[in-house]
Amino acid sequence: MKSIQKPIVIVGAGFAGMTVALNLKNINPSLPILVVDSESNFIFKPLMYEILSKEIRMWEATPKFAKIFSDAGITFLKNSLTKISFKENSLEFSDKLKINYKYLILCTGSVPNQFSIKGVDENCYFFNNLEDFKKLNYALKNLQKEYNKKLFIVGGGPSGIELACKIDDIYKKKFDIYLIEKSNEILGKNKIFNREEAEKSLEKRKINVLLNSIVNQVSETAISISNETGINTFDKDIVIWTAGVKPNLSYLETDEITKKFGRILVNKNLQIDNYNNCFALGDIALIEGMEDLPITAQVAMQEGSHLASNLELLIQGKDPLPFEFQDNGEMISLGIGEASISGLGVTLSGKLAFEARRLIYASKLPDIKESLKSASSWIFQKKSIFKKFVKKDNSN
Ligand SMILES: Cc1cc2nc3c(=O)[nH]c(=O)nc-3n(C[C@H](O)[C@H](O)[C@H](O)COP(=O)(O)OP(=O)(O)OC[C@H]3O[C@@H](n4cnc5c(N)ncnc54)[C@H](O)[C@@H]3O)c2cc1C
Repeated sequence: MKSIQKPIVIVGAGFAGMTVALNLKNINPSLPILVVDSESNFIFKPLMYEILSKEIRMWEATPKFAKIFSDAGITFLKNSLTKISFKENSLEFSDKLKINYKYLILCTGSVPNQFSIKGVDENCYFFNNLEDFKKLNYALKNLQKEYNKKLFIVGGGPSGIELACKIDDIYKKKFDIYLIEKSNEILGKNKIFNREEAEKSLEKRKINVLLNSIVNQVSETAISISNETGINTFDKDIVIWTAGVKPNLSYLETDEITKKFGRILVNKNLQIDNYNNCFALGDIALIEGMEDLPITAQVAMQEGSHLASNLELLIQGKDPLPFEFQDNGEMISLGIGEASISGLGVTLSGKLAFEARRLIYASKLPDIKESLKSASSWIFQKKSIFKKFVKKDNSN
């Protein structure tokens, strides 16, 4: 087994970074691995809706990085990457710390895309990380004291639909919910079965769906939306922006490396052009020739698992293998206790789908000992969850 001196540095310990780190350690325990993340906690984003509805508790879906990585024998550092010198193989962090790397793995995820629309940044809520979650949760709790508050959700993708159904169920008609989608259908990029189930769920809850509608501006008190009838301005109490994401690459200098659609362009081995010891994966990366891959945890985890095996091949002087995506289907939560699943020839909806979805996610959560304290916790009814995060390709 060959070993290396300088560390393999993984920046970003979300779905991609976590998977590559744990798998790599599993394949070759002697490798020096350093994982860096600007946050203290992992967040299992697909379960953020269930934290909102208290179907699961916050700590269950947000284990501490320090604990996960120390249990796995991996060094973890809380810090924020601010600069890369690809030529010198070095990184700079927000406290001016400098680290040299042998191999670099970038997986810093996404941030909401406001598309430069006036007022979005200042007057909308987002739902992408723990901080967003806390702000939105606080605002919803404050507003629910009165009935008929106007809540707009912008974006008819999975996040918008899942939030609309969950909020309606949690606050039981306290909000008049409007879902705004710029195209002529919701869930345009998703499986037909899930789209149809989502349409039924929205209809059942009497959520107003405004299709072919584009947001022009959001002010403190109003939202302006244009459609075929012209521009309409509505009073609003709260607007949640789920209209899209963009790669989180604030540490990259402009034109430093090749990008496509704003994401880092990598080859099928997930290597960055001209820098074969550097890799990008997850939401920030676009694989040449695989432009249609969805921006999901499923893709991020499969890439993470693949890169771990490839890196070991590279260290042994062997040729890496090209990444191949296996579509294991998709799952959507549709209100409290309900979901829709479509994939691998199976379609499932309602309460059964909800149970299946939570069991599948439970098998992907990194284990933490504290979980055992909660005997009633559904998430941790399964044992050795941590091991299942390793080499788990059938992610969703
Ligand atoms: C509410 C919500 C629900 C979702 N539901 C699903 C779903 O049901 N199924 C699905 O497949 N996908 C889902 N997704 C998408 C999925 O979560 C992402 O595609 C996935 O998290 C991408 O993984 P990643 O590793 O690229 O990034 P992330 O998991 O976002 O991790 C990025 C990490 O990088 C860290 N970081 C960022 N910048 C820096 C820096 N400068 N220095 C150090 N660290 C940094 C962050 O703190 C974070 O921990 C959902 C997303 C959201 C927001």
